[in-house]
Amino acid sequence: MSYRINPNSKRGWIELITGCMFAGKTEEFIRRLKRYEYAKQKVLVFKPAMENRYSKDNVTSHSGLELPAIRVKNSNELREHVFRDKDVKIIGVDEVQFLDTDIVDVLSEIADKGIIVVANGLDKDYRNDPFQNVDKLLVQAEYVDKLTSICYVCGGNASRTQRIVGGVPAKADEPLVLLSANEKYEARCRHCYIKPE
Ligand SMILES: [Zn+2]
Repeated sequence: MSYRINPNSKRGWIELITGCMFAGKTEEFIRRLKRYEYAKQKVLVFKPAMENRYSKDNVTSHSGLELPAIRVKNSNELREHVFRDKDVKIIGVDEVQFLDTDIVDVLSEIADKGIIVVANGLDKDYRNDPFQNVDKLLVQAEYVDKLTSICYVCGGNASRTQRIVGGVPAKADEPLVLLSANEKYEARCRHCYIKPE
């Protein structure tokens, strides 16, 4: 894929894929990066070291698509990986909301150097508040795809993520990232979403 109108114009920009959970963000992320790979472009994919929902070193979608990824502890480690390798043309960053907030400037610097950045992340947490990094990338990215899911309750278009614990909507004072197996998430529309108290 190329967004350049004039093929002689400079490369390097930021693409953001965002939305709620179960919207197919990871599928779109993997699809886009694989297309760049088919075009024989060197792609590096990164994910935060804390993210191990399905597998340790791959980006894996709910439907089972996979892409090898490098786990990084912070934005500086990602930066060093990218600038160490002169052949890199495209990078992917999964779960960008879970990296430190310096990542926004780092991705901008990488795009300035002529590399295409594809970032993937949730736009809102379960309280419906903007997630860090994605909030700024929505403004800084040249291209934004905001995907929706299907509301678990009414079947309408869903743009929010409801956290359910013990069968009821979670309280507002819970941590943003839970590691227990007790909670689950549902995509919900504006009308079916219940704001945590
Ligand atoms: Zn609904």
